[in-house]
Amino acid sequence: MLRMKNEILIVEDDRYIIRFMDMSMKEEEYTISVARTIREALTLFFANHPDLVILDLGLPDGDGIEVLKRIRENSDIPVIVVSARQEEDEKIRALDAGADDYVTKPFYMGELLARVRAALRRLENRVAEKDPKYEDGDLVVDFENRIVEAGGREIHLTPMEYKILALLILNRGKVLTHRYILKEIWGYAEGADAATLRVFMATLRRKIEKDPSNPQHILTEVGVGYRFK
Ligand code: CA
Repeated sequence: MLRMKNEILIVEDDRYIIRFMDMSMKEEEYTISVARTIREALTLFFANHPDLVILDLGLPDGDGIEVLKRIRENSDIPVIVVSARQEEDEKIRALDAGADDYVTKPFYMGELLARVRAALRRLENRVAEKDPKYEDGDLVVDFENRIVEAGGREIHLTPMEYKILALLILNRGKVLTHRYILKEIWGYAEGADAATLRVFMATLRRKIEKDPSNPQHILTEVGVGYRFK
């Protein structure tokens, strides 16, 4: 079965908390990157396209809310604020700025991990709930179990290919622009690179289309994007 390894960006300046989070999250098989300042956080966010961000508010070069605002200009990935600030106003401010969840320090690691799992699941469930299984002749995509079959055989897709296919099927019939797909898949559309997307589409077609040069499922809308038939 295909399983995605989710990448989490931890934005935190307390090295004990970093060590604690890093250790616990690696045990859960997440890929971790760590930023200690606003600057580092934005650099890593745009470079790594994480699936989820854990964000401290008190950072050495300013207010973590600035990171949240910049992320929200580009992406709707889950952001969990973990902060020592307990005032109701602070929570409201973070949630208004687009945080998905707010955890107050000190916190139990188990609780934070549960919230991380819940936030990541919301994302995946959006796809699976709407469409537990897609079947169209030679192509079967079982979203609940993440199994893809083409021409009667189970095929292996990379996490990126799977995400793209799921997005296309979820929006079947509609034309999805390059920009929209890049934003949904990579959480980031600035400087959107249609050429990268073309490479992924080509490998995806080779795997699911009977005749990749004459695709029946993933159609190209020249100059605009792609449409799933
Ligand atoms: Ca701090």
